[in-house]
Amino acid sequence: MEHRVVGDFRVTLVRSGVYYWDGGVLFGVVPKSLWSRFVEADELNRIPLGFNSYVIETGDRTVVLETGGGYKMDARAYERMRLPCPPPSLPEALEQSGFDPESIDVVINSHLHWDHCGWNTERGPGGVRPCFPNATYYARRSEWEYAHTRHPRDAVSYIDDNYDPLVESGKMILLEDDGEVLPGIRLDRAPGHNRDMMVLRAESKGATFCFLADLLPTAAHVTPTWVTAFDLYPLESIENKQKWLDQAAKGHWLMGFSHDSTQAFGRVEKRDGKWIMNPA
Ligand SMILES: [Zn+2]
Repeated sequence: MEHRVVGDFRVTLVRSGVYYWDGGVLFGVVPKSLWSRFVEADELNRIPLGFNSYVIETGDRTVVLETGGGYKMDARAYERMRLPCPPPSLPEALEQSGFDPESIDVVINSHLHWDHCGWNTERGPGGVRPCFPNATYYARRSEWEYAHTRHPRDAVSYIDDNYDPLVESGKMILLEDDGEVLPGIRLDRAPGHNRDMMVLRAESKGATFCFLADLLPTAAHVTPTWVTAFDLYPLESIENKQKWLDQAAKGHWLMGFSHDSTQAFGRVEKRDGKWIMNPA
């Protein structure tokens, strides 16, 4: 898997599978005649998406950012996404990339939609167990509270076994505010995709890796108005994306993508009023 050096940190993309989802949903109001220049749809108009996790090694801690889709749905759901059943496992993908799941110190979920925290836990004969037994997990308290309201619009996105057993056992810390979770690694709330999603910045020796979660699912979403139909607050998505991309361009930040199925990293540039995502 691809990795980059960020100051004293090392950032590695680990992808736990590629799934397919309706391209129209991923690009919202953007016509297919435009988005199809970036990604090819299959016969059911589905496009490939990655379950992307990033491993950040700080020197003394190993952090896993996002844990992919997990295995808690029925066979038909996987078929709809063109995934095998059981689907590819993040703990196995990490092992193949040289990371022992038992050596993971910290797990961070930008938000609690199933495709970002699925491999936090695994269901087994003895009940639900953490996939990273020695890790402290972080999510945002307001997002966790919202998850339990089960609004009809997005109730389907939440599977309580991905986080409740961790909260109950004290393994998951629910953050009240923005701030650092480890020296150099901070989380900030960025509303738009939903009310309380967080973006991550990892900063070391003047270099920054930034993960905008579902504000930037793929490199093609770099145009601020290219917002998914999932987003609950699309105007806020546009506003926040502009704000973060501005900073990312000025600071030459290395960017990650929550669901790009091919590009692992990018660097953003604003040229003649147009946003461009360059490979990095
Ligand atoms: Zn989401």
